[in-house]
Formats: sequence, structure tokens, C-alpha cells
Amino acid sequence: MEKLQAVRGMNDVLPADASKWEFFEDTVTRVARQYGYRNMRAPIVEYTPLFVRSIGEVTDIVEKEMYSFEDKLNGEKLTLRPELTAGLVRAAVEANLTYNGPVRIYTMGEVFRHERPQKGRYRQFNQFDVECFGFDGPDVDAEIMVMTARIWRELGINDVRLEINSLGNVDERAAYREKLIAHYEAQLPALDDEAKRRLHTNPMRILDSKVASVIEVNKTAPVLLDSLQDESRAHFAKLQQLLTEANVPFAVNPRIVRGMDYYNRTAFEFVTDRFGSPLTVCGGGRYDGLFEQLGGKPTPAIGFGMGIERVLMMLADSTPVATLDAYIVHAGDAAQKTASSLAETLRDAGLAIAQHANGGSFKSQMKKADASGARYALVIGDNEVAAGTVAVKPLRDAQGAAIQGEQAIITSSAVAAHLRG
Ligand code: ATP
Ligand code: MG
Repeated sequence: MEKLQAVRGMNDVLPADASKWEFFEDTVTRVARQYGYRNMRAPIVEYTPLFVRSIGEVTDIVEKEMYSFEDKLNGEKLTLRPELTAGLVRAAVEANLTYNGPVRIYTMGEVFRHERPQKGRYRQFNQFDVECFGFDGPDVDAEIMVMTARIWRELGINDVRLEINSLGNVDERAAYREKLIAHYEAQLPALDDEAKRRLHTNPMRILDSKVASVIEVNKTAPVLLDSLQDESRAHFAKLQQLLTEANVPFAVNPRIVRGMDYYNRTAFEFVTDRFGSPLTVCGGGRYDGLFEQLGGKPTPAIGFGMGIERVLMMLADSTPVATLDAYIVHAGDAAQKTASSLAETLRDAGLAIAQHANGGSFKSQMKKADASGARYALVIGDNEVAAGTVAVKPLRDAQGAAIQGEQAIITSSAVAAHLRG
């Protein structure tokens, strides 16, 4: 029969790669908890208008990248989430989550965008996501960047840099919009069709264009920072002061616009130059108007999305791998029964134990024990069952290197202590 394949741009994570994923998940979960963040999860599928309304009608995501479909059974218009913020805000509004005050949350999961697949760009990818609902900043703005800086340290990544910008408030953006339209209208021939179409619907999106002639025009475009009034300026200045005090290096990049319309004031990206051209591994910002836009009460908020696949590309191959404490080798019905109950007892004691399955000779089972990466082989035959003992053979040292250790015969009840010691 013909072999079936994964959908283009959607990747499997095989066991050999999974330890990096687990290392990442464990690390970010631990750090987020250290800062008082709590976990929350929303569905992968939402009604399409949620994303259209929040991300914006005239954006790459909504115009070109969403997996939208009609439910065959009831005709509902649905979309696979292209990012995590909109669903979480929808859920927070529905549950009145901030009723008792602000909440800090983190989540992780798959998101979907129909893009041209390449290294670091997939159609199903994963984000680690942090959201602070009910905080107007800039203290919490600084906090999530300080927390992210800690995440890089704990992951052993030292070549990402932080860039920040302010996108102002609604009025400041309206004033800026006029300046921007005037700038582009003076250079119409350089705009491609998409930029022309967006000129009067969403000119800020043109700043994000990947077309060479448009990139050229963007170099001389006015910057939003120059249109900021006192309050937004003070917010941005305070953020910079807090980052400086926290010893988190940053650069102001007035060209950061972000791909969703809901952002205001603080916008930021963590970027790496490791792969030639700059690659954004984490991006976020403030979205003070989104709760209201989705039918909720006014709730200032900020968050970010981190592209997990891109971060994993940066992790050293020496990332710690979860290892087995022991692999149990056994032959005969009586030995199998003893092996099974010993395995459970050792797991009760918190040890990681694989019990051989699928039969085979002692010799072939020992090969499997070696290949498993376990620190010890526990051997149980008829003699051991009769004597209530286990033959314990060291296979690897604490660093995981193979060793030729002496086999020891140990009373069953002492095995857990022996494996620990
Ligand atoms: P880009 O400019 O690279 O398209 P973006 O601005 O669309 O990124 P965001 O919407 O901010 O990205 O998403 C947050 C993070 O998710 C990005 O910084 C990136 O690390 C990751 N990301 C975005 N799109 C993809 C993708 N198609 N495949 C893998 N990771 C992605
Ligand atoms: Mg994109």
C-alpha cells in the first residue's frame, strides 16, 4: 500500500527530538510559575470572526494565512487558531476572569498559518504564550521582558537581543496614519498592488512589507514614536528605565510594528542573528483595547508569543535527556511476575524503570538494556526468584557514559536504595 505522509508544513516530533521539547516545556513552566503566572488553555478551534475582529481584516494572517472552514454538520464558520491571544481573551471575557483583579497567565500550544514552509516557518507550529490581563504597565511590561531574559539564560541561549518600540494609543496612531498615507502617496510607483490596496485601509501594514521597492520607501517613512503625546512617551520612558535597572539590555527599534492590529503602546521582539538574516523568536506587546473589542469590560493587557520551533533550533545538542534508572531483564513466567511487581515497587519509589517486553534470550534482552540508556540492568531468572534477589549490573555512569561495572546480587527490598546510591 502507498505510504501516507504528514501534511506539508506540519511536523512530527519523534522520540529523539522530544527531549528538547520537554526540556523547553519544563524550563518555561518553572520560570513562569516563579513569577506567579498560572496556566490556562483555550480550544484550538474558534469562530472565525474572533480572529477577524481581533487580528484585523487587513492583515497577512487574516487575508492569507488562516485555516478557515465550514463545519459540515451545522455550517458554522470556524478557524484553526493562528495565534493564542485572541482565544485566551475571548475565554477571559466569557469567564469574567479578571473579576477579582488582574491575572497573569501562561499557555502553550499549536497554532496554524498557511505560509510557505521553510526552515523556522511551518504551517503548524507551537507557541509559548504569556498574557497579563488587567495591568496597565509599564511595570508589568518590563516584568515579562525580564522573565523572558531569564528564560533565555535557563535555556542556555545567549544570542538573542531585545528590541522595543511604542505604537502609541488610538489617537496617536490616527495622527500617524495621515502622515504615513501622505508619505506613500508621494511615492506611489514604488508600491506593489498589495501596498496600494492597503494604503487607505491599513497603511501601517505596508511597513511590514517584504517587497524590495516597498522596503526602500519604508526606510524614509515617518516613525510612530515621533507622533507620541506625553502619556505614551512617559510610559515608554518608564519601561526603558525599568529594563535598565533590571540589567536587561535592549535597543529601541522604531520600525517594529507587529503583525496584528490589536497592539498599542509597548511592542517588542526578541531577535537572533544566528541564522544569517535576523529571525524573531518571540514577539509581543500591549493590547489595551482588545477586551472591549471582544465585548468585555475595559481591561488593559500585555502578552507575547514565543515560537517554540525557532527556540529549539537554538538549543545546544547537549540538552539534558531524561534517562531511565534501570531496565529489567527477565526470563520465565515466575521471573516475569517478579519483574513486574519489582518494577511497580521501584516506580512507587520515584524511579524510572523499563521492563523488557517481547521475550527473547537473556543476551538479546541485555542488548536492549544497553541500547535503552538505562544506568543499570536488573536481571531476574529462576535462581533470583527462588532467592528473593536481583542481579544488578551497572551500564552507565552518572554522565551517561557506558561502563563495564561489576554485577552485584542484591535483596529485592534493597534495590531501590542501591539504584539511588
Ligand atoms: P514572522 O515575521 O517571522 O512571520 P510573525 O510576526 O508572523 O513572525 P508572531 O505572529 O509575532 O510572528 O508570532 C510569534 C512568534 O511565533 C514569532 O516570533 C515566531 O517565533 C513564531 N512564528 C511565527 N510564524 C511562524 C511560523 N510560520 N512557523 C514557526 N514559527 C512561527
Ligand atoms: Mg508572519
